Amino acid sequence: MTTALVTGANKGIGLEIVKRLIDKGMTVYLGARDAEKGEKAAADVGARFVQLDVTDAESVRRAAASIEELDVLVNNAGITGGRANAPGQADVDVIRDVFDTNVFGVITVTEAFLPLLRKSAHPRIVNMSSMVGSLTHMLANETPNSLAYVPSKTALNAVTVSYAKAEPGIRINAACPGYCATDLNNHSGYRTAAQGANAAVTLATLDDDGPTGGFYDEDGALPW
Ligand code: NAP
Repeated sequence: MTTALVTGANKGIGLEIVKRLIDKGMTVYLGARDAEKGEKAAADVGARFVQLDVTDAESVRRAAASIEELDVLVNNAGITGGRANAPGQADVDVIRDVFDTNVFGVITVTEAFLPLLRKSAHPRIVNMSSMVGSLTHMLANETPNSLAYVPSKTALNAVTVSYAKAEPGIRINAACPGYCATDLNNHSGYRTAAQGANAAVTLATLDDDGPTGGFYDEDGALPW
């Protein structure tokens, strides 16, 4: 039986990933920082709830101690810090909060669950990134010029490559869901959260000879 953990999964794209992995026969831990929301979401879809705030090292440690085996980790929890934070108007406290969740949170969770993943026969890690974090994309397009969300996803891409190089036994990739209508963007996205789950589900279920250290949307490889 394959076991998966999805962080920030009480709603949005994370919840859709949970549903799809359950449909594939996995035992899925639905991670959420709010116990009430997490327990309700887990009960609704048949997942196991685990309390996990990615910015709270103690809650991550407790979550890791409560899970006995893990094959798939989806680092999905993320925040934007709002649209502001253009250069010249930076609110460093907000930027720090965004990096705390989107970058340091991913490292905290990954470090805590690596010992379990290393014991798995087919371990996978998926980091939920965004096309806006691609430096190639940023240089070639008009993108939201935020010093918070955009560079946090660029850093997350680098973190993904670092772990992939260090852990050749684990398939570790970054996923871009596309622009999906969720609370993250006040439902302005033109894709559904379910569509946003596609790339992550593919990367979470790669064959053993599948890629590692890459960046993908549902159509294939993206430029860093
Ligand atoms: P969402 O609907 O706002 O969901 C975000 C989830 O992350 C929520 O469950 C939230 O919990 C959780 N979360 C936030 N901070 C957390 C923390 N410290 N610890 C644990 N959980 C935390 O957003 P979404 O659109 O589904 O986004 C999911 C991922 O996809 C994010 O990493 C996002 O950056 C990425 N992404 C989204 C889009 C898009 O268009 N939607 C595009 C590119 C990338 P609460 O309910 O408690 O707040």
